[in-house]
Amino acid sequence: MSQTWMITGANRGIGLALTMELLRRGDHVIAAARDPWGGALAELAGVHVGELTPLELDVTSDESVAAAKRALAGRPLDVLVNNAGLYGPRDRQSAFEMDFDAWREVFEVNVYAPLRVAQAFLPNIEAGSGRKIATISSRMGSLGGNPSGAIAYRSSKTAVNMVMVAFGNAVRASEIAVLLFHPGWVQTDMGGGGADIPATESAAGLIETIDASGMAETNSFRTWKGETIPW
Ligand code: NDP
Repeated sequence: MSQTWMITGANRGIGLALTMELLRRGDHVIAAARDPWGGALAELAGVHVGELTPLELDVTSDESVAAAKRALAGRPLDVLVNNAGLYGPRDRQSAFEMDFDAWREVFEVNVYAPLRVAQAFLPNIEAGSGRKIATISSRMGSLGGNPSGAIAYRSSKTAVNMVMVAFGNAVRASEIAVLLFHPGWVQTDMGGGGADIPATESAAGLIETIDASGMAETNSFRTWKGETIPW
């Protein structure tokens, strides 16, 4: 049966690939982006009339989220995907040199925003039958594996794991599954051209794994293929 998904950062990268794959299989997508009227989303909206709802959303802005919430008031959502993300400067987030303003910005997008968006659209998820909130984290947030470098980005993903696990425990009684994912090393602006997999492969795997997830998987941290990752 067709479902309604909301994807943040839907205009490029993994978010766009998720949007395209969901439309391909006949789901409805609320494609949230800072500029949902331009680029690839505008083209898709022209082809998938009535199946794609462009939604203007800057996930770091209380005002923008409030406006998006008003736009979707009363509309059931089956799955919310917190996908929008920011890596921060490649060169100034090491143990020896840190751009602290950039670090704060990375936390705005990667840590505070997923909770802000989950809180705002919780009534829509409660009104739907899918009852899932997925957040695209990263293996780079795992404390295992001798991490070094990329401290701003890594710490943001470690933090969002904690934030969403706490959120997941809070909504457990409402039977809403809260899921955390590493999407693979993906060929996007963030992942770079030399990454392991195309965004289409990551998106297809994520959707399959989210489809197969329910309350038994709430508060899990897994790859796009469903393999468990150590915290
Ligand atoms: P991209 O850099 O290709 O795309 C980032 C997306 O996030 C864009 O749509 C961008 O929108 C959006 N975004 C950034 N800031 C905001 C904001 N304030 N409000 C709304 N949208 C915003 O990244 P990917 O597609 O590669 O990454 C998607 C997710 O996957 C991220 O959370 C990332 O951390 C995670 N990830 C990616 C990996 C990879 O290898 N690519 C590996 C592990 C995790 P805009 O165009 O307006 O800037």
